[in-house]
Amino acid sequence: MKNLQTSQIREIVDCMYPVKYNADSMIIREGDVGSLVYVMEEGRVDVRKGGHQLGTVGPGKVFGELAILYNCTRTASIIATVPCKLWAIDRQCFQSIMVKTGLLRNNENKQLLKSVPIFKEQSEEALSKIADSLEEMHYNNGEYIVRHGARGDTFYVIAHGKVRVTRKSSSSADDAAVKTLQRGDFFGEGALEREEIRTANVIASDPDGVDCLCLDRQTYTQLISTLDDIHRDSLEDDKKECLPAIPHELGSIRLNDFCIIDTLGVGGFGRVELVQVKNDNTRTYALKQLKKHHIVETRQQEHIMNEKRIMTEARCDFIVRLYRTFKDRKYLYMVMESCLGGELWTLLRDKGTFDDSMTRFYTGCVVEAFAYLHGKGIVYRDLKPENLLIDHRGYIKLVDFGFAKKIGHGRKTWTFCGTPEYVAPEIILNKGHDLSADLWSLGILMFELLTGGPPFSASDPMKTYNIILKGIDAIDFPRKITKNAQNLIRKVCRENPCERLGYGRGGVKDIQKHKWFEGFNWDGLRKGTLKPPYVPTIKGPTDTSNFDDYPEDVDLPPDDISGWDKDF
Ligand code: AMP
Repeated sequence: MKNLQTSQIREIVDCMYPVKYNADSMIIREGDVGSLVYVMEEGRVDVRKGGHQLGTVGPGKVFGELAILYNCTRTASIIATVPCKLWAIDRQCFQSIMVKTGLLRNNENKQLLKSVPIFKEQSEEALSKIADSLEEMHYNNGEYIVRHGARGDTFYVIAHGKVRVTRKSSSSADDAAVKTLQRGDFFGEGALEREEIRTANVIASDPDGVDCLCLDRQTYTQLISTLDDIHRDSLEDDKKECLPAIPHELGSIRLNDFCIIDTLGVGGFGRVELVQVKNDNTRTYALKQLKKHHIVETRQQEHIMNEKRIMTEARCDFIVRLYRTFKDRKYLYMVMESCLGGELWTLLRDKGTFDDSMTRFYTGCVVEAFAYLHGKGIVYRDLKPENLLIDHRGYIKLVDFGFAKKIGHGRKTWTFCGTPEYVAPEIILNKGHDLSADLWSLGILMFELLTGGPPFSASDPMKTYNIILKGIDAIDFPRKITKNAQNLIRKVCRENPCERLGYGRGGVKDIQKHKWFEGFNWDGLRKGTLKPPYVPTIKGPTDTSNFDDYPEDVDLPPDDISGWDKDF
């Protein structure tokens, strides 16, 4: 919360309400699902976990803060030891403030940009991205913002306050006043096109100081032609869309026609079974079963519908195909192509780490999948080795689209998603995120494959989030990460989402041009002719030896006939 703007803090404070607890009352109970965050004004509380005392907390402290991000199970109990006066806010309220202020700010910035001639021709989409890239700077009264004769690469729009423009005068030793500028006025726009020698001084001239929105040339040029390139790519991809939707043998199949062979994995909402159609043992499929009741309980209905829609439409060799869906009173079912090489996670666990070239191959597969998804304006949001499956050839396919969402270009989304170690800082900060969050996770994946563990990790999610917010520069790179790999990881793990490699001009294609990939056979990868670093042993379509064993699921979920899944 310390990263919030003053206006956001003000709104949050306004929405907090007072609560009082008597001594010995339980404020938070370990194991409960919570959505409230508390700040303590007066009192003292004990923090207990599993019956053990962890510590005590006094006035001025915050607790339950993980609930501000998502519906979480409380990891400890908080018990009042004396009468306590607290202030509370719930997640929904907090998040709606973040969404509202984020959108408002973007809109305000867009309006300011529209008055600048070089931005007049830009689409709303481009303006929105530029507006997001603007950095707010504050200048005290009398401070020089720009100095005559200096070289500059930054453009400024005045958001609050007045500035004086002055120039050296031939007749006097003092600088001569040229004009005064105010809110909505701008200067330094030449610097966006080329390095500019400043032709005047610009000095903050307001008792309250001056706020400017700044944009530098590098960010501007990187952003400006992104959109054209991306649109062109998605047109090319559309040609592939004519691949048949369903293999003919699945056309008229019913759920009862499948028989289960073994369990492949267990996800958040249920199991994934290897199945075959009765009387045909030449082919197998992966059948994902999701408990409807559990989906409703965790309010994931929309995410599941997104998963179905996106996977059904996806036609990319680096994404698992979804052929059919079914539903009954208790479950939703997804019939997918089966990838019997196991999870990349299992291979990494067994090998400990991957070398540079093995990591390059697997990262390359993910880059191809992201190029496809991002070209369509889809953000994936759940990259991790568990969601990368190895197919019979040894190639990687992306699976589990439970957090994927079509957001388009130049638009943002706010829901907290992902796995703690892979979550991008803007998601933690509730700033709204877009395709760029996937680029961040790509850097985390590279780091994990090369070293066996992700760069940001701690004993609990909140600690992990705090380390993530310190940034990649605070991380020591082990020597086994080569210089080029390190360079790429740092470039995709920039704190500012707009600065990440793969977000600019060429989209994800810019990552393919990075020197770590120099000489990599992208064409061979796409055609499937490039030799993979590891080929799994698969004895036949029913061989599940590359997967771990899972205990039977004895829990029979209750029926759910409320009908929310009618379009599934
Ligand atoms: P999910 O709930 O989609 O994350 O799936 C849970 C686990 O099931 C994955 O991590 C895989 O181990 C396994 N799995 C999911 N889909 C497939 C598939 N198409 N082929 C083989 N295994 C799969």
